[in-house]
Amino acid sequence: MTASPETDRIGAPPQAPPTVTRRTPLPEIEPEPTPPLDHFLVALFVTIPLLAVLAAVPLAWNLGWLGWHDVVIALVFYVISGMGISMGFHRYFTHSSFKANRGLKIALAVAGTLAIEGPVLVWVADHRRHHKYSDKEGDPHSPWRFGTDWKALTKGFGYAHIGWLFNPNRTSQAKFCPDLLADKDVSRISRWFPGLVAVSLLAPALIGGLWSMSIAGALTAFFWASLVRICLLHHVTWSINSVCHTFGNEDFEVRDKSRNVAWLAIPSFGESWHNLHHSDPTCARHGALKGQIDLSARVIAWAEHLGWAYDVRWPDGERLSARLTGVRGKSLGSMTDRQAPRSGDRKAA
Ligand SMILES: [Zn+2]
Ligand SMILES: [Zn+2]
Repeated sequence: MTASPETDRIGAPPQAPPTVTRRTPLPEIEPEPTPPLDHFLVALFVTIPLLAVLAAVPLAWNLGWLGWHDVVIALVFYVISGMGISMGFHRYFTHSSFKANRGLKIALAVAGTLAIEGPVLVWVADHRRHHKYSDKEGDPHSPWRFGTDWKALTKGFGYAHIGWLFNPNRTSQAKFCPDLLADKDVSRISRWFPGLVAVSLLAPALIGGLWSMSIAGALTAFFWASLVRICLLHHVTWSINSVCHTFGNEDFEVRDKSRNVAWLAIPSFGESWHNLHHSDPTCARHGALKGQIDLSARVIAWAEHLGWAYDVRWPDGERLSARLTGVRGKSLGSMTDRQAPRSGDRKAA
């Protein structure tokens, strides 16, 4: 058995060395479908925070319903859980863009779980399958799965954003993330998912209540920092699957429809530079061009400076400049390993 080119591209660990007896390959989909109760819970977690956001605008007018305590708590929880998804679940656990010490690894697994986007093992298995089949048959959430005309694309967009969460097919963890299944810390945190969901929902209320010493403070913090925060973060993450595979710029050559979307860069912590990400999936910095803000990359650089992260795969100037489509004529930004050759110097590859 040899590692496929796709496996290399997504940065998953090398497969086991060849054995004498040829075993049948592991199935990519688990034999048991997702239980209906899980889909019911997903529906609850999609609709209730969404209703909270719809109610948020009129409530915000009533100043008693939104205090600066709520804004601070919501922002802190948004950053912790969003960074846990971007830097943790995505760049570290899925793509091994850098190595982390045990403390940072555990912190990233817990922080990402607080986003309530599923246990870390489920998230990583689905996302590695997404890269293996990106925008082709087998991709769990491509907007292009029903076709390319506007009707099919509208349906596909909704499917990539939310619909795929209700697909009964479960990605096999044994196939897609054996490295994380074997890691006791990670598999334990993955099993703690229900408990951490409770923490993510209740901790803001507790903090809000203690801060203001009132029940009203607990309730408004729960509303803004639990429900509204979770809804916004969910839709930002899902937009990477829907918006960033439909609209935006193709700054780098890719074999799929992944695109760079500037307006989502700050709320997604740099995840919306999704075109570079598909062009070079193990790269720790997704916003690799000058002016592309990538907050996750900045935090990875801080962690590297503190010695918590190491072997960081910063953009390789030579490799990336060979993939530039040149549509917008932008040059590579900072945190690049090797300076990109100037266009006049570039030799034919
Ligand atoms: Zn990825
Ligand atoms: Zn993608």
